[in-house]
Amino acid sequence: MDIFAHTMWSLILLPGPPSIEKAALGIAPDILVFATSLTKQAIKGKMQPGFKTRKEMMDWYHRPENKWVLNFYKWTHSLVVWTALLTPTFFIWFKFSGDIPWFLLAAPIHILMDIPTHNNNSFPVQFLTPISKFKVNGMHWSKPIVFIGNYVLIIAAIYFRMFVIGK
Ligand SMILES: [Zn+2]
Repeated sequence: MDIFAHTMWSLILLPGPPSIEKAALGIAPDILVFATSLTKQAIKGKMQPGFKTRKEMMDWYHRPENKWVLNFYKWTHSLVVWTALLTPTFFIWFKFSGDIPWFLLAAPIHILMDIPTHNNNSFPVQFLTPISKFKVNGMHWSKPIVFIGNYVLIIAAIYFRMFVIGK
């Protein structure tokens, strides 16, 4: 799913007012990978090539020197990894501040939304890394029906939250 949609869903689904923390955790699984990749390319003085097709892009990521991106992506899209990181953080935060840190749930929400909207040809989400290589061959988010359907749902959800729930 695209970064903007991930941001919107984090803000819509989590209780409380919109915040930078929700947006940041909501895009963290992608940003951690692609910002590192772009920084690495920039340091090497090479710009990431522009890809005309998804196949061209995936072939580039499957090159030996770029394969770490695919591997790192599995780890940042693992519910196992995020659960291990966030569970203690959640309780420590709550113990010391008395507030429920809802924003932490933005990262697992990101992964749950990526699972059915990625397919085996384009960054499949191995959400049980490192326990299992299980993945779902879903409907890719860039398909018009999924992409448009997603934004229709986002607009409906914003309306519902603002006017039906009223906060
Ligand atoms: Zn993602």
